[in-house]
Amino acid sequence: MKKICLLGASGSIGESTLEVVRKYPEKFSITALTVNTSINKLQTYITEFAPEVVVISDEKSAEKFLKSYKGKTEILAGRDALNKVTGEYDYDILLSALVGFAGLEPTLEAIKRKKRIGLANKETLVAAGEIVMKAAKESGSEIIPVDSEHSAIFQCLVGEDKAGVEKLILTASGGPFREYSSDELKNVSLGEALNHPNWKMGSKITIDSATMMNKGLEVIEAYWLFGLPLSKIEVVVHPQSIVHSMVEFVDGSIKAQLSLPDMKIPIQYALSFPERLPADYVTTRFPKLRELTFFEPDLKKFRSLKLAFNVLEQGGCAPCILNAANEVAVNKFLTDKVDFLHIPDIVEDALSHFENHTYPDFETITEYDRLTREYVDNKY
Ligand code: MG
Repeated sequence: MKKICLLGASGSIGESTLEVVRKYPEKFSITALTVNTSINKLQTYITEFAPEVVVISDEKSAEKFLKSYKGKTEILAGRDALNKVTGEYDYDILLSALVGFAGLEPTLEAIKRKKRIGLANKETLVAAGEIVMKAAKESGSEIIPVDSEHSAIFQCLVGEDKAGVEKLILTASGGPFREYSSDELKNVSLGEALNHPNWKMGSKITIDSATMMNKGLEVIEAYWLFGLPLSKIEVVVHPQSIVHSMVEFVDGSIKAQLSLPDMKIPIQYALSFPERLPADYVTTRFPKLRELTFFEPDLKKFRSLKLAFNVLEQGGCAPCILNAANEVAVNKFLTDKVDFLHIPDIVEDALSHFENHTYPDFETITEYDRLTREYVDNKY
């Protein structure tokens, strides 16, 4: 029986994780789970999974919940409680599905304790890839990607030698605006941007997919996870989201991982690896799919993707600044304060505003994250 600590239980990845756990009650149990403000579902989670501890990171929501709560599960409140749970409580696997930079510190606590990490929170690696991978190497913690592209690459690399890899090919759906002209992009609404063609996801990642910043963040994530130079990472647009990513080897052979889009597959794999568990979530029927198509990404139209390649070349704090500026810009777009095309402008502005810091430690990263948020929030 593997004990799971689930960060971000009420989000899209969190709920899919609960579905996987529900399917294999003899294999997995939830010993800790966290929500931010979603207390409406919390009592149901507690009743069904009987975790040892629950964190409500938003203190006001915690106060509200505790007024009527009478249960055995310990309830902790506040952001710091996330670190306390991942750093001190008993579990085997951390499923990190928080949104944004907030996932970094609690995940690092788990890495230091040599826990297996099922990593869905890509911003952890984007902001602090070097620190996170170094900590994992030191402790021996396994980081198994949950992001579908990285899970695909991870699966393709099982049994392979890194020296045999020619390149990693990350697929991108291209989002809802793949065929829009630059002019049409000027006037897209929030509703259109939230309408992803293939995946049902949280709002932050859905907007990131529409700007293609998501793919940019994933390039950075892949760079740290698989330890290959940037020149060996390529992005290809694949609108059907069936090929989740590929690895090309030095002999010209290419491996790919395919399935209909369902996050339960990579989640389950991260929990059960190296074992594969039988599941009937989706069935891929090729005659029904008819065609799989591939295109070059348009870096002029989707500037966010280009920016992500740039910051990885710059290194240091640049990816952290990009990540923080993007998080705030996306929030501002979600609350109707800036236009869609403003998002890459804002990220670019933040990147040129701050001087880079070449070998940042954890405190420096945290400080850059805070300063970038403050800067973008005040200016726009
Ligand atoms: Mg992905």
